[in-house]
Amino acid sequence: MSALVIGTGYGGSVTALRLAQAGVDVHMVEMGMAWDTPGPDGNIFANTISPDHRSYWLRTRTKQPLSNFLGFPIDRDIPLHTGILDAEDFSGISVYQGRGVGGGSLVNGGMAVTPKRENFGGVLPSVNPDEMYNVYYPRANAGLGVTEVDPAWWESAECYQYARVGRKHAERSGFPFVFVPNVYDWDYMEKEQAGTVPKSALRGEVLYGNNHGKKSLQKTYLAQARATGRVAISPLHKVTSVTPASGGRYTVVIEQINTSGVTTATKSVTADRVFFAAGSVGTSKLLTKLKATGALPGLNGEIGKGWGDNGNVMCGRANHLWDATGALQSSMPTAGIDNWAAGGAFAEVAPLPTGIETFASFYLSITKNPNRGQFTYNPATGKVDLNWQTAWKQPSIDAAKTIFDKINAKEGTIYRTDLFGVYKIWGDHLTYHPLGGVVLNKATDNHGRLHGHPGLYVADGSLVPGNASVNPFVTITALAERNIERVIAEDL
Ligand code: FAD
Repeated sequence: MSALVIGTGYGGSVTALRLAQAGVDVHMVEMGMAWDTPGPDGNIFANTISPDHRSYWLRTRTKQPLSNFLGFPIDRDIPLHTGILDAEDFSGISVYQGRGVGGGSLVNGGMAVTPKRENFGGVLPSVNPDEMYNVYYPRANAGLGVTEVDPAWWESAECYQYARVGRKHAERSGFPFVFVPNVYDWDYMEKEQAGTVPKSALRGEVLYGNNHGKKSLQKTYLAQARATGRVAISPLHKVTSVTPASGGRYTVVIEQINTSGVTTATKSVTADRVFFAAGSVGTSKLLTKLKATGALPGLNGEIGKGWGDNGNVMCGRANHLWDATGALQSSMPTAGIDNWAAGGAFAEVAPLPTGIETFASFYLSITKNPNRGQFTYNPATGKVDLNWQTAWKQPSIDAAKTIFDKINAKEGTIYRTDLFGVYKIWGDHLTYHPLGGVVLNKATDNHGRLHGHPGLYVADGSLVPGNASVNPFVTITALAERNIERVIAEDL
């Protein structure tokens, strides 16, 4: 029995580990780099303040989520390279994703949030909450190394001044303020604050990778998977096609690329089982194209549908001079404002690690946005388009305003207008949290088996129908744990 896993993010890493533990030989194929070798500066990853060739996936100019500061554009030219952060542009939205062995775990903020149980029915309606909350969420949290910051340390740590200001403003307006677990090593961060180890979170590292401290998948699920001796990983290899072969097997076409993104070899392998774990966008694009071109004719009409942005919208507030947020800010968020029940918004109190005092509070809100996009194949370009429109973010802005209009009124403050352009309040052009496109129990059965092609599975965020009510990777991990357990029991 051989299995091929496309992608090395959360869904792919869980799947590979559990298959290997069940005695299956697994080949993981990852289009991004391995991220295991230091560059000329001695670091594997580039710093957020000074992006370089390592920072972006095949771009010649950075595309920073906060494009402006004090109204001035801050993007800069960089050499074309298979860097770590992809800002993938569709017509109405840029979708940020991690590229490399570890997927999104390489670039994300590490916020590891289990949705409130009362909201779970709106997240994955076909999944039994009992099994998730009793078995798979705990298993995922343990596998990822999720822990909470020590509240006593947090209360006095210089690097969380911004979060304490966020709490003060939330509480003065009557909003529930919650601590949010993370996968960062808090002992390491305490040493960073004490000045006894090289800094990572306290050097602003996050978007382009953390050189220390963060328990990315490379250190958790993938390390365990490798230790089984049954998992091989091919970085800088991109899957372009999966088609039925004889004997119920599948032929997988893989392009090897160089660090300029140029194809240097095309390989064809066969596998008994293929798991799509290329992320919401990657898996949706592959399957939409494979269905439209007739390569996988059995796929059903749900492929490409039900894509959402997890309601992401960003904003900043300008504080009074007595509410300094601190020149030193940890890049790992620890706190959120929960107005989901009343206003459909959960706002993460986010860092703005510029190294100088900005008097700004910055937030990434996750909102209950009902809009859903669809992927379609464009035969003229050979590419897959997404029909999202920027105006579809309006429900997210309205939801976020239920929190920040109130805080501004209470504090006598205003929104920052200099972070996303000139006189632009809302960061409504992007998402960090693509979800859906191959929705569970619609495009697949209730455990990720693709309809019409036995032996093909989906294992990543594309299964989650557009919104997780909180940051999504714990849910993606837990769902992958649930599905692969069933598949191993019944299909192998
Ligand atoms: P991914 O982790 O995206 O992995 C998919 C992998 O497949 C990638 O490595 C990709 O390169 C590879 N791939 C794609 N196509 C192919 C192909 N054709 N062939 C081979 N390989 C392919 N979530 C949270 O819960 N908390 C946070 O704090 C948080 N912060 C974030 C901050 C940023 C800047 C970003 C970008 C995301 C953040 N997220 C956060 C989101 C989280 O990282 C994603 O939800 C998660 O990584 C998705 O997991 P996945 O398994 O679906 O896919």
